[in-house]
Amino acid sequence: MSNDHHNEGSRRVGQVKEVTSLSNPIVKDIKALSNKKDREQSGTFMAEGLKLVIDALELGWTIRILAYAKAAKGKPLVEQVAARTIAKGGLVLEVSEKVLSSITRRDNPQMVVGIFEQRWTPLDDLRPSQGVTYVALDRVRDPGNLGTIIRTADAAGASGVILVGECTDPFSLETVRATMGSVFAVPLARATTEEFFAWQKRSGAQVVATHLAGAVDYRTVNYEKKPTVLLMGNEQSGLPEALAKSADRLVRIPQQGRADSLNLAVATAVMLFEARRHLLKLEDAG
Ligand code: SAM
Repeated sequence: MSNDHHNEGSRRVGQVKEVTSLSNPIVKDIKALSNKKDREQSGTFMAEGLKLVIDALELGWTIRILAYAKAAKGKPLVEQVAARTIAKGGLVLEVSEKVLSSITRRDNPQMVVGIFEQRWTPLDDLRPSQGVTYVALDRVRDPGNLGTIIRTADAAGASGVILVGECTDPFSLETVRATMGSVFAVPLARATTEEFFAWQKRSGAQVVATHLAGAVDYRTVNYEKKPTVLLMGNEQSGLPEALAKSADRLVRIPQQGRADSLNLAVATAVMLFEARRHLLKLEDAG
């Protein structure tokens, strides 16, 4: 996305650009971020909500564009975020409600949205050490599942999520929404199956894979002795044999009732809170 000064349907007031037209080129560029291809080409994505934008800036994410509703103008926190965006070389837009609804595809949009640069952590930067847990997801398809898993990984104190194979995009609007801001807090890495195998070998971590045919009860594994990678299978087909075989343990969450399996995000949550049970204390909350 360019920071060129497109003037169609816009007016510049100080360093803030007022935009009311849906055909403004910047608005079109922002709307295009609903396509994966455009997100990849621009290396950016959209996050909604003032709190999220503030958190992202606190965590050092690079903001390219801040857009806020006319009604939010003059609010101290919005002004602060706008000043920070300008100081970092970003663009600030004051937009009509109609424009905001259009870029967020919502009838009652948040008052503030930010366009940020995507950030991927190289797999080699994930160095498992004592007390560290990662989640590795094999070909996760559902944006809601991925967002929920990123949020849960954050809440459980995991140190990263590794996307193995062809996965849904963590920077899609739907996934970012489901993360409730945790997309800014949890390192995300991606790998082919081969790259994951190679990393797994040199990482020194134990890989605990979850499988409906797992012979080991997930509660009997010692999660304290080594850093742990929780390996989760695809929603439809589960873990492929090669990934299942490469794991140190193949575990199952015992079930009753008629359900064949747990939802992927639910199974990941169960695993995360078991693997980190010894590290999670009530005093840590808040
Ligand atoms: N039809 C798929 C299969 O046969 O594996 C179901 C996949 S399930 C919806 C998605 C993933 O969640 C599984 O690959 C596994 O990682 C995890 N999962 C769900 N329920 C589980 C259970 N009871 N025990 C272990 N893992 C489970």
